[in-house]
Amino acid sequence: MNGVFGDPALYVDFRFEKRALLFDLGDVGALAPRQLLRLTDVFVTHAHMDHFAGFDRLLRVCLGRGPVLRLYGPPGFIAQVEHKLSAYTWNLVDRYPGDFTLLAHEVAPDWQLQAARFRSGARFRREPQEGRRCAGGVLLEEDAFRVRATFLDHGTPCLAFAFEEKTHVNVWKNRLADMGLRVGPWLAEVRRAVMEESPDDTPILARWRDGEGAHERQVALGELKSRALELVKGERLCYVTDIVYHEENAARVARFAADADLLYIETVFLTQEATHAARKMHLTAAQAGTLSRAARAKTVVPFHFSPRYMGREDELRAELERARAGIPADIDRDQPSPAAGAGACLVKTEEKPVNKPVTDTLPQLGAPDPERKNSPIIDESEYDEHDASPDLEIEEGVCYFNDEVFEIGQTVRSGAELLQCSERGVWVRKGEKRPD
Ligand SMILES: [Zn+2]
Ligand SMILES: [Zn+2]
Repeated sequence: MNGVFGDPALYVDFRFEKRALLFDLGDVGALAPRQLLRLTDVFVTHAHMDHFAGFDRLLRVCLGRGPVLRLYGPPGFIAQVEHKLSAYTWNLVDRYPGDFTLLAHEVAPDWQLQAARFRSGARFRREPQEGRRCAGGVLLEEDAFRVRATFLDHGTPCLAFAFEEKTHVNVWKNRLADMGLRVGPWLAEVRRAVMEESPDDTPILARWRDGEGAHERQVALGELKSRALELVKGERLCYVTDIVYHEENAARVARFAADADLLYIETVFLTQEATHAARKMHLTAAQAGTLSRAARAKTVVPFHFSPRYMGREDELRAELERARAGIPADIDRDQPSPAAGAGACLVKTEEKPVNKPVTDTLPQLGAPDPERKNSPIIDESEYDEHDASPDLEIEEGVCYFNDEVFEIGQTVRSGAELLQCSERGVWVRKGEKRPD
């Protein structure tokens, strides 16, 4: 919904029903109230802000309107929903029309699913519900589809989801007529028999009514299948985001997303910034491509790009596609080679020779104007890049100085001060430089 740079939120609409599912609950400002009201089930990978901050808007739209909304998330999720709800005053909400109900579910690694109900009629007090086991990671099972989950590691348990359409059974009415049969509720039994893969000699009792009264005829399932039915294989959509690259995660993704028709996969950083990606517990584009290749996904949709690549989306896509085609990542090919260790994020200083001293060619920006957009300026002693909490994930990817945008790693002068744009999107004072 929010493009490759926005908060993750994948809206899955049902074409002939007033119904939709949502995978991740980042900013949902782009969805109209009528679209939010169609949601019946919302699946949240983990509760980092960019995946869960849309909760308030969804709740607000549904209040007094929506009937039941089911939410699913990782361990601790019910308490997180409860805390969100308890941040508001609800003294009047029990007078609202309807009884808007949130059913929150959290899944444990042993696939025990806990549930709690929060009703507006009960002022959103937590009401424990009976739990159940979700065998095979199936969180939701319906006639036409199921939603399955798996656990991945993002420094915190993070769920990945698969939306699995079941086999469609299309019935050709005219071909039934050629067989001397008419449509009727008996076709539900046919559909069930097909889904259960019953043998072709399974007898089916076809019954229908018309102007001449009731009719009844027995026909073999195999005959129906060959003459009047069309079986269309359902599609499988997988949604994988916010994971660190390591062997176990890689093996799990390859298994879980195996042969996916459509794989949505996070593609956060370029390989150049692999060290940074690992620290932030995210994938690089090459890693996303490698996982897509291992899963043999038919169509791959990259998303969740770091904002630092604004205007450079093609580089992320190209890196993913190269890895997906099995071409090893060649970071030296058209990029300056990364400096070692944590400094790897600072290679964007472009053609400057590595050891060239800082000179007066640095842009002189004057003093920051409080009326314009400026990133915070901090002393070098206060700056600890490891302190950048991966929980926050609100990285700007750039620094601002009087509305002007600067890339990470860039050094500028503000009067006598040297400022360097750090990877957290803050200016770090690198000392003073008097004009020579
Ligand atoms: Zn995220
Ligand atoms: Zn996250």
